[in-house]
Amino acid sequence: MAPIRLDLTARLCDQLGLFDVPGLSVVSAQPADDALLQTVHEEAYVRAVRAASADPRTARADYGLGTEDDPAFPGMHDAAARIVGGSVDLARAVLAGEVPHGVNFCGGMHHAKPGCASGFCVYNDAAVAMRAMLDAGAERIAYVDLDVHHGDGTEAAFWDDPRVLTISVHESGTTLFPGTGYADELGGPHALGGAVNLALPAGLGDAGWLRALHAVVPQLVTSFAPDVLVTQHGCDTHDLDPLGHLTVSVDAQRRASESMHELAHAATGGRWLALGGGGYEVVDVVPRTWAHLVAIASHRPLDPSTPVPEEWLAHAAELTGHPAPPLMTDGRTADYTGWESGYDPESALDRAVLATRRAAFPLHGLDPDFD
Ligand SMILES: [Zn+2]
Ligand SMILES: [Zn+2]
Repeated sequence: MAPIRLDLTARLCDQLGLFDVPGLSVVSAQPADDALLQTVHEEAYVRAVRAASADPRTARADYGLGTEDDPAFPGMHDAAARIVGGSVDLARAVLAGEVPHGVNFCGGMHHAKPGCASGFCVYNDAAVAMRAMLDAGAERIAYVDLDVHHGDGTEAAFWDDPRVLTISVHESGTTLFPGTGYADELGGPHALGGAVNLALPAGLGDAGWLRALHAVVPQLVTSFAPDVLVTQHGCDTHDLDPLGHLTVSVDAQRRASESMHELAHAATGGRWLALGGGGYEVVDVVPRTWAHLVAIASHRPLDPSTPVPEEWLAHAAELTGHPAPPLMTDGRTADYTGWESGYDPESALDRAVLATRRAAFPLHGLDPDFD
């Protein structure tokens, strides 16, 4: 989670000319104040983060702070609260129709829970942004989490809230942190079906991942008819990512981002807030995937064969001592076979998809076999 991943992404966007696209504005953000953070997070937890931020030696492991995954560091409160501020500002602007789409690739901190830090996440900007939209009048929000890990913190924040549909598409908890997110985890008694989980087998590859997410996400989001679509684009699904094992390419991630954009236009009149998330291959993967996301949201999608600018390559090589990929593609096609072609009961992928469809679709008035 070193800030270099964000710096390299912003530089790549800039050098590709994305920040000069007419109609695109790059805006700064102030840290969210405690009242805003406490719409999701417990007061005692916010106090504990502030204390650890002022003096990292006081970090309390019972709040998940000062741990291997969430080490305390000076300024951690402001850094984490600023990410929240950015996502909330964009969320309000998108909901109000001031901008059609917003991207905060610093955001997507989906493991943070109301009362503790988890999985490199301190404050859950996605959850606070959705709470802010509900408070501003949104009646229904759909959240789609494409990170390789289960979006457990965001799901927990709205577990029993029927106004928010959370869908997480991730590598199965049998092989990956946090070990949750199975098809039978469907939300609380007031919101049954409001949480949807698609737990995928390791080693899936592009075609399998795209087939899976397109077999579940568009159907549910369209049926839910949200006012806004919020998507989390953790790119730790990539083959080179040191944590996940879904073996997906930048090309498939770009295709997924295009699909989320199209889905927003089809289901919400275009109101779309896109966030970053995990992604630990910080040179080869994160900058290219999120530059594609920014380009798509700017309505100036990049051809995959676009060269990575020389200046960026030189900077990345100097910084990391590691040559970066020369093109905005991994050379894959991102083709897949859609669910409508039928499913194979022998395929672990298709069994996982079907488990989720059978668990969740009837709760949304959908037919698990035919929709
Ligand atoms: Zn659009
Ligand atoms: Zn992740």
